[in-house]
Amino acid sequence: MSHSGFDSHMPDTCIYCSRPGPFTDEHVFCAGLGGDDNTFLLRELVCKKCNEETFSPLEAAFLRASPEAIGRAFLQTHGRKRSGKARATEAPLLQCTTTSVLLPDSDEPVEAVFGRGGVVSILPKFILTGNNMGSRAATSEDLAVFCHELISYLSADELVAIRKEHASGGASFVVTTYIFSCDKYIESSSSVLRKAPKTGFWIECSGGELEPEEMRRTELVRNSNGHTVVRLKNEGELSGLLGRLRKNIFVFEQIAGKKVDGDTVVNPLVSISVQSNLDARSRVLAKIGINLCAFVMGKNFVCKEGFSDMKKKILLGQEEIALQNILLDEQSAEFLKIFDLVQKSKHFVSIMLVPMQSGTNKLSMFMRIFGGAFIHIVLAENLPHQPNFPIFLEVDYNLHQLEIFNLAEFSSKYSSAVMSKMHSERGRRQN
Ligand SMILES: [Zn+2]
Repeated sequence: MSHSGFDSHMPDTCIYCSRPGPFTDEHVFCAGLGGDDNTFLLRELVCKKCNEETFSPLEAAFLRASPEAIGRAFLQTHGRKRSGKARATEAPLLQCTTTSVLLPDSDEPVEAVFGRGGVVSILPKFILTGNNMGSRAATSEDLAVFCHELISYLSADELVAIRKEHASGGASFVVTTYIFSCDKYIESSSSVLRKAPKTGFWIECSGGELEPEEMRRTELVRNSNGHTVVRLKNEGELSGLLGRLRKNIFVFEQIAGKKVDGDTVVNPLVSISVQSNLDARSRVLAKIGINLCAFVMGKNFVCKEGFSDMKKKILLGQEEIALQNILLDEQSAEFLKIFDLVQKSKHFVSIMLVPMQSGTNKLSMFMRIFGGAFIHIVLAENLPHQPNFPIFLEVDYNLHQLEIFNLAEFSSKYSSAVMSKMHSERGRRQN
């Protein structure tokens, strides 16, 4: 199929905002979702401002927290490779507000972290209530590593405590140094830094008296960033706590040397909560549709008036984009059942012109991401007839390979499957 990405007779303006540029390359299909960095790009069509100020943050929000982000965490087994090496930031990680595991021997959910491939790991943790100390970890090795870190911190005569503060101008870090002298830790200096020091205890304060009792206990956690976090009611308790821990350092030494049964559970009940930004989701998905049209049909087509409402919705986010989820069943339209022949290991997008009573056409997009439900979005209205539709796109999200088909190509690819499907249906009806 031929693609006309650029029409020379159109003035050089952004297809989304009509600004005169400068332009940057825009991925037809988001790279983080399986898009391709080389071939499927819109060049000289999307301005730098739209790309960097609007689309990039939208895509980041979508890829971190959305129903698709959950699919991505489980199914997209590796990130995109650039110049031979995967970038550290490519890890498809889900931004969970909480992740916890319910263990058979405990009524209380255990704090965990959600990783690549949907692997959930229990965070090593010590829980201090009164004079008792309990522990949680996936393996005794995990707990031992954490113990050794605590021992090395607590044997030093100078300790650094880091508390993150959120302010309108970005995060800052209150860094306090404690010196061990005359059998106790004494605060020696405190400063506010823009960048956190590499080592130290990260302090999280639960704050007020209104917190439930369990929130008031003290915890030492090794979090998913590898930070040692101290959770306590208020920072004023810290020097006393550190002194007590130092006095009992032998306890950590004992635990580190002991082989204890970890909390390894097969198929545990895992609870994650993800705060998803549904506005970012629909804007990103609609943008894929318009990008695909621009890539296949050229600039003139997507600059028609019928697209302007949707472009405004994508750019400004002030008006909701109507997004319909379609679960395939017996009653579903026949064309959707044929789409279902596409392997679920690929994303699938189909864009078609649907004739309206007014004599014009609306442009409908059906897409299935990570094998989920079909999503339907009307991309544009009042369009004249175009012979090139429908268009089909398949994305192998692990290989970052895209393939575009027209109707004839798509039909011939799936004709045998369609025939056999029709046969089996006919057979079923006759029985
Ligand atoms: Zn623009």
